[in-house]
Amino acid sequence: MKYAEFPLKKTVNEGRVYEDSLSVEHFPRLKEAVHSVDSPIRFRIQGETNPLGQKEVKGNVAVDLSMICQRCLEPFQTKFDLPIHWIPVKDESEHDLIGDDEALLLVEGDEINLLELLEDEVLLTLPLVPKHDLNEDCDGKDYLEKLKPQEDKKQPFAELAELLKK
Ligand SMILES: [Zn+2]
Repeated sequence: MKYAEFPLKKTVNEGRVYEDSLSVEHFPRLKEAVHSVDSPIRFRIQGETNPLGQKEVKGNVAVDLSMICQRCLEPFQTKFDLPIHWIPVKDESEHDLIGDDEALLLVEGDEINLLELLEDEVLLTLPLVPKHDLNEDCDGKDYLEKLKPQEDKKQPFAELAELLKK
């Protein structure tokens, strides 16, 4: 299966289902964006016709990856399992007919690069400032806690700490 030339039109028209698991080598931008990709990228793509008669694509994409915590600068792992919902349209004029802007997928021709689209879905979900969850061990969290009672002293990192909270 050449996912870079994915037969989107046939998939929605014929209600095809694709399920696969690919190595990160197919997703260079994702590899670049994170500390490490710790699992294959798994996905399921299903073409269907919704009750309004619109052709759409549903499914999910899942991956485990590690990012660098911006508080303590240690890597931490996150598991993503993102729903996919695309309504393919040929041009902007079809927007009005649909209403669900988030799902619109502008497509020229009958094929899409599925790899890039799946990669986009994951990249758009990555946090701008990755951080450990508050209930996880994070040295940076301890550091920020220790800063608190010393507010009358000079705080060279206070501004940084403020930035990291956002
Ligand atoms: Zn941390």
